[in-house]
Amino acid sequence: MNPNVKQTGFNLAYVLIAAFGVLALQDWWIRSQAVATIPYSEFQKLVRENGVARVVVSADRIEGEVKGEIDGKKRFVTNRVEQDLAKELDEHGVVYAGRFEDRTLPLILSWVVPIALFLGLWMFLGRRMAKQLGGPGGGLMSIGKSKAKVYVETDTRVTFADVAGVEESKEELKEIVAFLKDPKGYGRLGARMPKGVLLVGPPGTGKTLLAKAVAGEAGVPFFSISGSEFVEMFVGVGAARVRDLFEQARAKAPAIIFIDELDAMGRARASMGALGGGHDEKEQTLNQLLVELDGFDASSGIVLLGATNRPEVLDPALLRAGRFDRQVLVDRPDRTGRTAILEVHSRKVKLAGGVRLEQVSALTPGFTGADLANLVNEAALVATRRGGEQISMEDFNVAIERIVAGLEKKNRLLNPREREIVAHHEMGHAIVAAALPGCDPVHKISIIPRGIGALGYTIQRPTEDRYLMTREELEAKMLVLLGGRAAEHVVFGHLSTGAADDLSKATEIARSMVTRYGMGPALGPVTYETEPNGFLGAAAGPRRLYAEETAREIDLAVRDLVQAAFDRARVILADNRPLLDESARELLARETLAGADLGALLGRVHPERRPRVAAAVS
Ligand code: ADP
Ligand code: MG
Ligand code: ZN
Repeated sequence: MNPNVKQTGFNLAYVLIAAFGVLALQDWWIRSQAVATIPYSEFQKLVRENGVARVVVSADRIEGEVKGEIDGKKRFVTNRVEQDLAKELDEHGVVYAGRFEDRTLPLILSWVVPIALFLGLWMFLGRRMAKQLGGPGGGLMSIGKSKAKVYVETDTRVTFADVAGVEESKEELKEIVAFLKDPKGYGRLGARMPKGVLLVGPPGTGKTLLAKAVAGEAGVPFFSISGSEFVEMFVGVGAARVRDLFEQARAKAPAIIFIDELDAMGRARASMGALGGGHDEKEQTLNQLLVELDGFDASSGIVLLGATNRPEVLDPALLRAGRFDRQVLVDRPDRTGRTAILEVHSRKVKLAGGVRLEQVSALTPGFTGADLANLVNEAALVATRRGGEQISMEDFNVAIERIVAGLEKKNRLLNPREREIVAHHEMGHAIVAAALPGCDPVHKISIIPRGIGALGYTIQRPTEDRYLMTREELEAKMLVLLGGRAAEHVVFGHLSTGAADDLSKATEIARSMVTRYGMGPALGPVTYETEPNGFLGAAAGPRRLYAEETAREIDLAVRDLVQAAFDRARVILADNRPLLDESARELLARETLAGADLGALLGRVHPERRPRVAAAVS
């Protein structure tokens, strides 16, 4: 569809005027023709006097020609009068005529009105459709030129001060602000600004807010559009909109273009096809977006921000270098972060003197920024309902209970018991890592749920790139992975399902050690599986090069390796039990541990007491 088709909308009023005009003209034409309009009585008389040459008779009128002339006209027309009545009138010498009905009104009623109604309906629907498509209603004819319903704010009135608890993300975005304030100066050294920055994080953590804050801080216009708006559109319209969006932003550069819910538009193309056609629209929109991304260079002063809570479903083409090549994680806030967010949102409400926001924050683990904003509002409502003047701590408690119930239904919050298990589990990973010499240092531990399935996380940061790993190092990796489960076992004496992912990773390492690196104690330096290679290789999986009996031996060897690692991890944790409990308590209270605090705790870990020689022999 050509988006540049000029609008050819027309007006209902013109149609009606034209219709009236035609009818009036027709009437006048008939009247002004060389036709004499005569009374019926005169017609009767003419007939009797043999003065009529020929007639054409219709239901109510008679047209014809006279032999002579009437008022200098040869043709005549007359309206019929009922026969009996005519006779009677004739007898009494009355001049009579049938009345010429006014034909204009019935004609209007019989065809102009229906057509007008139809046209009106058509235009109404067209306009509504155009509205849906984002154009400023111009009838059906104007689908082609859809002026994008681009949402522009010249001043978002949001600054970084309004966004709290996501300090790391803010820090990363400050560079963008600096660039937008001075695009020329920034390019002075030839540094290239990332074109697209993708904000990734769970819903309600403040991604949209952050994007607006970047625009607000830099004082540039904020163009935004949401991926979900493209879902229900006609083919071609989405692409036209994307084009418009970039066109308009370019005219106002420096500016920010923000595409919210990018995953709704940028879902991997392969997965679209699976549903069988009908997804051309998304694909075209996505392609147009890619074209636009490639088409502007950073010196134009436009920065593209995107937001998604499902980066894993995005089309890889979107994430390539030169497109959305930088990702900023916007995570759920920890306890201090939550306090800061509560402070931001309680600026607008009246708090009683006794309200301790730190305490509210302690009661709301797992809440996102949006949940907390909602909480403050809910507490204000509770206070209003009881007729209070200020929001008390009790109001907050009532509000928390209410919101927690809702969130638990969505299965997002952990109960205290679960949190305790997760805290010990994560500390288990960290302590085992600290107890093994040469293990990558643990850099951050958190019990804030992240992503789907992960209840907490421990981040180890490698100190150098590694291309070769010794058997000891592989074992150490397994021990760290199993440390979480070992901690649960040592402390609670039972196991939970939270370690499934750790287990499968550890097993994978053990399996590779046995089948690929020849490290299985009883199986010798033999390769039992080769790396998948060649055409269809990856799909077919590894090639297995062993007999049935060997398969059993391999399974046993893998099990032995994993079991041995698990036992060693348990011993390490039992040795460090007081520290494990203490640090898990600390983690429960603070939710994330990092930096110097974490260093101080882990500095007290007893190294593993195992004679290192033993490992080298087998
Ligand atoms: P997302 O886009 O990540 O789903 P939003 O930015 O739409 O989340 O957040 C919704 C609302 O929640 C915001 O308008 C704001 O009031 C509140 N909010 C969310 N995160 C924060 C935060 N980090 N600091 C302050 N308010 C927040
Ligand atoms: Mg959002
Ligand atoms: Zn784990």
